[in-house]
Amino acid sequence: MSRTMILAGNWKMNLSYSEARALASSIDKLRIGNNIEVILGCPAPYLDAINALVRSNKKVSVAAQNAHHEAFGAFTGETSHLMLNSIGVNHVILGHSERRQYSKESNRLLKQKLTTMIDAGMKVIFCCGEPLAIRKKKSQDNYVYKQLKDSVFHLTADQMSLVTIAYEPIWAIGTGETATPTQAQSMHKHIRSLIKKQYGNVVAKKTSILYGGSVKPKNAKELFAKADVDGGLVGGASLNFDSFKKILAAF
Ligand code: PEP
Repeated sequence: MSRTMILAGNWKMNLSYSEARALASSIDKLRIGNNIEVILGCPAPYLDAINALVRSNKKVSVAAQNAHHEAFGAFTGETSHLMLNSIGVNHVILGHSERRQYSKESNRLLKQKLTTMIDAGMKVIFCCGEPLAIRKKKSQDNYVYKQLKDSVFHLTADQMSLVTIAYEPIWAIGTGETATPTQAQSMHKHIRSLIKKQYGNVVAKKTSILYGGSVKPKNAKELFAKADVDGGLVGGASLNFDSFKKILAAF
């Protein structure tokens, strides 16, 4: 069973509106191979326009970088899935380590957010990954297991078809330090075995697991060649068209 390969860009809080448009329209013109999907994690103010720009492209989608767990109400500054749905955005990134760190998003809150999104039929890229101190103690497998158990494994097997997992070791995000392909494969295999234990082989084989953490044109090919690495969630290198295109070519 072949899984969809995904290259997701996470633009974070970068790019002016005109830069975002220029980048998205260059990506829109790329020839993207069979069984490959591109997702652009776009800043909230540009979601509608960038989504409209790529709407007719079946290979390219736009994702919000976050959404609130409630559907509407007195939550100043927040964005809900209803708002995203109303502009035709059906993807959302949840649990990025920067949101866990700076906005204190806990496993419990992420469970609520994930439930809200999945109940609404949104597709979710769910991020997990350990900090350096945990890696140094060699406790990363348990740490990631707890993140998934506490936030994801309440979903049903059917609901899991809306979920893509992104393994992002925190020590590799924006640091220039990448997990070696062997380290990435080892964790991805572990995550797939956890999904298998929870949901069975069919779901485990179907779930795409992305690697994130300083993916660059020079390391993408080796990472994506690993059996359980189904693509990448890319921050810095997704802001530049040439490097994004080269990473896409690594599939
Ligand atoms: C990310 O933001 O998810 C990420 C992996 O960033 P970078 O590629 O810059 O490490």
